[in-house]
Amino acid sequence: MAEHVPGTSSLAEPEPERQQRLRQIPSISAILAYPELEGYLERFPNEVVTQVAQQVVGRVRTAMLSGSAEVHPDQIIDAVRRELDQLERPRLSPIINGTGVIIHTNLGRAPVSAETAEAMAETASRYTPLELELDSGRRGGRMVEISRLLRLLVGAESSLVVNNNAAAVLLVLSALCAGREVIVSRSQSIEIGGGFRIPEVLAQSGARLVEVGTTNRTYVRDYAAAITSETAAILSVHWSNFRIVGFTAQPALAELAELAHQRGLVLIEDLGSGALLDTAPFGLAHEPTVGEALSAGADIVCFSGDKLLGGPQAGIISGKWELVSRVAAHPLARAVRADKTALAGIAATLRHYLYHEALTKVPVWRMISAPLDQLEARCRSWVAQLGHLPGLAVVESQATVGGGSLPGETLPSRALAIPEAVARAHGLTLDQLAQRLRTGRPAVMPRVENGRLLIDARTVLPGEDGDLVQALRQALGRG
Ligand SMILES: *Cc1c(COP(=O)(O)O)cnc(C)c1O
Repeated sequence: MAEHVPGTSSLAEPEPERQQRLRQIPSISAILAYPELEGYLERFPNEVVTQVAQQVVGRVRTAMLSGSAEVHPDQIIDAVRRELDQLERPRLSPIINGTGVIIHTNLGRAPVSAETAEAMAETASRYTPLELELDSGRRGGRMVEISRLLRLLVGAESSLVVNNNAAAVLLVLSALCAGREVIVSRSQSIEIGGGFRIPEVLAQSGARLVEVGTTNRTYVRDYAAAITSETAAILSVHWSNFRIVGFTAQPALAELAELAHQRGLVLIEDLGSGALLDTAPFGLAHEPTVGEALSAGADIVCFSGDKLLGGPQAGIISGKWELVSRVAAHPLARAVRADKTALAGIAATLRHYLYHEALTKVPVWRMISAPLDQLEARCRSWVAQLGHLPGLAVVESQATVGGGSLPGETLPSRALAIPEAVARAHGLTLDQLAQRLRTGRPAVMPRVENGRLLIDARTVLPGEDGDLVQALRQALGRG
């Protein structure tokens, strides 16, 4: 902190002049008296505004002592206002997703259905029989309802919900394989992102990784040759967000199941996305479903709640009753368990599948199944509401599922395009326009591509059209 000591700064400014400049910083009481802060002093307790002003002044002093130029009082007031604005506006307030990436991890993955959000909010604000059996009045299991729903939907004997899929995989390996060997194909000893690497998760669980095959080709005989008395399981990991193409080979899950069961091993499948519906009817590649993995013979399947399932963040472990019970009894299960709102949200989301209404109710599936003409019509109505600004266009776009599902697969879509020239006509570069949209109210996340700013209609929720038009007007300075 040498710079804070007068006289030791690298700048050779004489001491009296430095003191002179520091005296130009207004006092805290002078700052609080600025009319710009009046409204804030009505909304915030006095000491909060005071503290923020002190922090800003402290930073300005430090900057001045280390030689930066003068700071005008107006800049100090602006900085105080910005900090107070940030305190006032929750960082996790809604943003309109114009990127065309349906499961956008940076934007919080799947938005949930209205029914799911309502179930979660009600469970959060009231008491609920989370661990109470109503008939007997005794303590009851947290997982009864979700197990019952998944038994019907995917044929799982039993299910357990935890914090996320990373926790699900770690827990399963810890409970079923610690101290023993787990066989994984070299093509599946992978990183999914965000620090989720199969070799590291395995190490963390206390299991020993035994890699077999090669990066592009692995055969059943490779797995068979690696089985020893130490082997606990075969782990299969879905290639969620990359592809290996060309000269490749990978045994079908059913073949691995046959081998595992002949040799008394457990077959664990990390499905990642965990679709309950087939993606193929929508022009996408087929993403393996939870039901398929279980009928192929996987003993345990792990998948996310907030990817293609379209629910809140969760990790779901479905499979054989005896194995799921052992997983649930492991001490780590308590550490990674799902909270009551997640359980209520997953159950509400699963009910949409039960009633065959997922395509119309679950936002992720609504977006996947939205017809092109509908997307085109929405873009046209945005253009009309913007007053047919010259240069605006409705263009073809490619939406993606995202969120570690169906890499390289696209869905034809439509987007509103704002070309660079239109932004320039409003005195903005495309990046400035994008920044204005992101920081506006309502906030919008666009996609900038090939000299145009795009708002892809596939990921804009149906109720957001009015807000989107308002945000675009504001960003272009028209409204
Ligand atoms: C996404 C994914 C994970 C991690 O799931 P989270 O729910 O993000 O914790 C693990 N494995 C695979 C194969 C995935 O696709």
